[in-house]
Amino acid sequence: MIILKKWYTGVVHSHTTHSDGNLTPTQLVKKAEKIGLDFLIITDHNQFCDYIPKSDKVLVIPGTELTDDTWGHTNIWGVKEPIDNFKCESYAEWERKIAMAREKGAFICMNHPMCSNCGWHWPLEPEKVDCVEVWNSPQHTDNMIATAWWQDELRKGKKIPAVGGSDFHMDYVVTAHLDNPVTRVYAEECTQDAILNAIKAGHTTISPSVKGQTIYITSDDGIIGDTVKLTDTTKVTVSVDCLKKNQTLKIIDNSGLKYSYKATSTEPFAVTLPVESEGFISAQVEYDLHPLYSAVYGKVEQKILHSKNTGKLPPFIYSQTGAIYFEK
Ligand SMILES: [Zn+2]
Ligand SMILES: [Zn+2]
Repeated sequence: MIILKKWYTGVVHSHTTHSDGNLTPTQLVKKAEKIGLDFLIITDHNQFCDYIPKSDKVLVIPGTELTDDTWGHTNIWGVKEPIDNFKCESYAEWERKIAMAREKGAFICMNHPMCSNCGWHWPLEPEKVDCVEVWNSPQHTDNMIATAWWQDELRKGKKIPAVGGSDFHMDYVVTAHLDNPVTRVYAEECTQDAILNAIKAGHTTISPSVKGQTIYITSDDGIIGDTVKLTDTTKVTVSVDCLKKNQTLKIIDNSGLKYSYKATSTEPFAVTLPVESEGFISAQVEYDLHPLYSAVYGKVEQKILHSKNTGKLPPFIYSQTGAIYFEK
C-alpha cells in the first residue's frame, strides 16, 4: 500500500449555538466547507457533542471544551461523550476526568494557558496533555506569552505538541475568524484517527488562515514533531512559503534565538543551518505592529481581554511551527 502523507488544514477549537457560538452546527460546517478546511473539531463548552452534521467535504470531529473559568479550559477531542459530567472541583478530579476520557479514546488539549481572562490555573503540567494551544483566537499578546512559556517547557526536555485554535464563536463586522488561525497537520489521511494521532505526534504548523503563510521544518527525513538523531553533520532546513517584506523569521532552540532574518522583499524563503546541540528547534515569523494600531489594539486587549500589559505591544507572531527534536 502506498501511503501519501500530506498536510491537512483544520480548526481544532470552535463553538456553535449549543454553547455560546452564533452559528448552528450545520451553519458552521457549511462555513468550514466554504473556506476550504479539511477538518473541523467542534468543542462547545461543557456539552456532549452528539449533534454534529456530516459533510462530504470536511471531516467533522466531535469534541467538548471542559470549561472551568476559575481553573482552566481543556479541549477533549474525538469522543462524543468522553466524561461523566463537567464538574471539576479539584485538580485530582480533573486528572480523573482526563484519564476517563483517554480510556474512551479521547485526545486532550490544554487551551489558551496564558489567557488573561480564562487561562490555566491548575498546575501547569503540559506533559499531562496531548498538546497545548499556544495560539488561541486572532493574534494577541497572551499568545506571545504562551509561546514563550511553551518554549521554556521544551527547554526542560519535554516534547509538547503545539496547536493553534481559532476558538470561533462568531465573525465580527468584516473580520472572518473561523480560520484565524488554522493548524496544519501532517497525516497519512484525513480521518479522525490519522489527524488526532498526527497532532499527538507533534506534526503541526500554525498559519493565520487557510491560504495563509506556512513555515515548515525538515532535517533529512525528519519533520516537525519527529526526533532526529544528532550527528556531526546534522542540518535543519526551515522554509516559509511566502515571507513578507519587513517580517522577521526567527528560529528558536534550547539556547534561545538561533537565527533571525528580516525580509527585504516578499518571496519564498528557506535557510539550512547546522544543528550543534541536543534539544528542540521551532520557528516563527514575527512582525511589528504599526504604532497607531498598537496603541489602539493595546487598549482593546486591556478592556476586552483583561490584558495586564499597559505598555507597548510586543512583535506579534504571524505564523509558527511545532517543534522538531534532536538527540544523540
Ligand atoms: Zn476556552
Ligand atoms: Zn473555546
